[in-house]
Amino acid sequence: MENPVTYIEVAVPLPVFNTYTYAVPESMRALIAPGLQVLVPFGRRKLIGYILGPGSADGIPKIREIIDVLDESAVFPAAMLPFFQWMAAYYLHPIGEVICEALPGGISKKKKAVTGPKTERYAAPIPDAVVAAPLTEARQAVMDALTSGGGMAVRELAKIVPSAHRQVQALADKGLVVVSDRPVYRDPFGDPVPPDVPHKLNPEQYRAVSTVVGAMGAGFAVFLLAGVTGSGKTEVYMQAAAEAVRRDTAVLVLVPEIALVSETERRFRARFGDDVAVLHSGLSAGERYDQWVRIRCGQSRVVIGARSAIFAPLTDIGLIIVDEEHDTSYKQESRFRYNARDMAVVRARQAGAVVLLGSATPSVQSVYNVLSGKFCELNLKRRIHRQAMPEIHIEDLRKQKESRGIWRFITPALHLAMKETLERGEQVLLFLNRRGYATWPVCAGCGQAVKCRHCDVTLILHQGAGVYKCHQCGYAIKSNVACATCGSNAIKRLGMGTEKIEHAVKALFPEARVARMDRDTVARKGALLEILKGLRHREIDVLIGTQMVAKGHDFPGITLVGIICADLSLSFPDFRAGELTFQVLAQVAGRAGRGDRPGRVVLQTYNPEHFTIAAARDQDFMTFYRQEIGFRQTFQYPPFARMIQLKISGRDPEKTREFAENVGALCRKLQGRATGPHGTGPLGNKTALAGSDLSEQVEILGPIEAPLSRIAGQYRWQILLKSTRSDQLHRLARQLIFDNGAAISSRHVSLAVDVDPFFMM
Ligand code: ADP
Ligand code: ZN
Ligand code: ZN
Repeated sequence: MENPVTYIEVAVPLPVFNTYTYAVPESMRALIAPGLQVLVPFGRRKLIGYILGPGSADGIPKIREIIDVLDESAVFPAAMLPFFQWMAAYYLHPIGEVICEALPGGISKKKKAVTGPKTERYAAPIPDAVVAAPLTEARQAVMDALTSGGGMAVRELAKIVPSAHRQVQALADKGLVVVSDRPVYRDPFGDPVPPDVPHKLNPEQYRAVSTVVGAMGAGFAVFLLAGVTGSGKTEVYMQAAAEAVRRDTAVLVLVPEIALVSETERRFRARFGDDVAVLHSGLSAGERYDQWVRIRCGQSRVVIGARSAIFAPLTDIGLIIVDEEHDTSYKQESRFRYNARDMAVVRARQAGAVVLLGSATPSVQSVYNVLSGKFCELNLKRRIHRQAMPEIHIEDLRKQKESRGIWRFITPALHLAMKETLERGEQVLLFLNRRGYATWPVCAGCGQAVKCRHCDVTLILHQGAGVYKCHQCGYAIKSNVACATCGSNAIKRLGMGTEKIEHAVKALFPEARVARMDRDTVARKGALLEILKGLRHREIDVLIGTQMVAKGHDFPGITLVGIICADLSLSFPDFRAGELTFQVLAQVAGRAGRGDRPGRVVLQTYNPEHFTIAAARDQDFMTFYRQEIGFRQTFQYPPFARMIQLKISGRDPEKTREFAENVGALCRKLQGRATGPHGTGPLGNKTALAGSDLSEQVEILGPIEAPLSRIAGQYRWQILLKSTRSDQLHRLARQLIFDNGAAISSRHVSLAVDVDPFFMM
């Protein structure tokens, strides 16, 4: 039968909000389906586009034909289209670019340029084959290896019998073995992972698993699993996942983006073996492609990965797990700005699946959703092996003001605790969320800080590298330069970074073996692994690190955690500063005493009375939440309001300012015009009526210069749109972007739309 579809709707990966109708030549009609890539003429170019569905020719004067159909089967399941469409609408992002972001690198390139799955020779013995004559020694050895293993890759066989390639062929000719080419999947894991078996759940875990399992198959539901570090959350994830797999549904597990394979990923791998596919940015394009194909063809029904794994081409998802749901790496901050934690909820809602969000320090947003009845709370209050939570002492850094040099940052209490810990042969972790040596180099002659040429920030002295470096744009100059303002050579090395702490610790404890873990020391491939192994094998006594140490890795031997200065992020001009500070402090503190010895934490701060510090000391996110939520309500910040930030940047300061002001004026004009019903908002809210109630209107803040007013030569401005009504907010933003394209586009200035922004500086 002839395919009746003559026209198709195609999305192209360009910054355009339209989709396009193309005609399908008769010869190709049988080949098309939603989710396939097609080659289309676009202006004078040829582009790869994605088939969304049947198209309409109504009112379109001249419809062009597609040039080619590029796939035999859809690169993503057609069932994912509504998800892409939802994201495009909610994030005000072109659908073609959403799909392009979703697909692994290799797939979107020219068809033949991609690396397909590799194959390898595989030999298997033919059961009951009759051996007519005695075999040579080498052939017999091959047969023995094959019969004991039931089959082997010839490459592996060659390690036992060097001439295996030849012998296998000879044995195949005799009808004793079959040889075939099997696809091999490049395994992103280095070490083989020993398998493990499920633990017998404790009563709290049992309650959590059975509640989640009880909800499976009964439609969309979201659970927030709050459990201190070491309370057995991962075991809950794995047993819920096993049940979902048993019911023939797929499982998606999101983990924070970290360097190297996370502990959670390793354990899923150990439990589920080959059922697991992994997707994260550490994979090469070829590896990502392989994993994608495995998922797409249903070979892997459990997918684990960072943010971008939200796009995994799974069908029939039954369960989505988001580990460390508070983690900011779920938010993408470039190109297409989306939040994978939030999209996990959306994807599950569309699939009628269950979501399990887990954290020791849940986000304010998720706790709010629990208290308002949207999410259901599950708790793990005790550590598995009943280890006590670490004892946390607060030390007031203000008392050190009169001290000199490093003693301003190593209090007597921390010094003593380090000494005792090292004398017992145990390990110490020191945390400071700033890398480099001196973070505030200032000229003694004129008082000017050493600044970046391209950014509105101070350069950081990296002593080992002998440079001042910009942490925003990477610009670096030799550290022996004179002051740019007065020419003086006396630059004071003020401000504390991990490198300075490392020097100090080496001076204070000359016997101790000291290592540093931050973006500078792990830049070299393999360096992080060395540090982790060093810790495990007790070749490191003191580890100094940035927030890299707070995530993902287990340090069982650490019994003392010193937080050098808890306040660094507390004063950021960001309404989430308190939340982020609480989370990182509680997470770092939770690194102490995870093995069989009890842990201690010395938390140094200039703000000992601050509720964020007190809540971190008590490891109690509800104490934090109760205080924080009042502040959010008073100032109408999320979760009480929704926000969209317009990020404006350009090389010319005047043009950028002028553009920002024009966009601001346009926003105000649209705000004044807010009228009438406008259908359903992308969140599925009810139809909005004109907001006569002021509190429901969209508030427009700015344009203002961004707190970081210049980065990499780009002048930066921002406008914040804020409303308690998501539908109103989105309507205004849509009018701004879709109906005023000309007014908001400029050759000199760019405008990015950030829905539910995180990084507001
Ligand atoms: P979390 O993810 O909450 O930090 P984990 O899942 O890592 O906690 O559990 C901590 C440790 O306890 C792990 O070594 C894990 O293997 C072990 N564990 C978890 N559940 C059980 C259980 N029911 N019985 C015994 N050991 C368990
Ligand atoms: Zn100077
Ligand atoms: Zn810079």
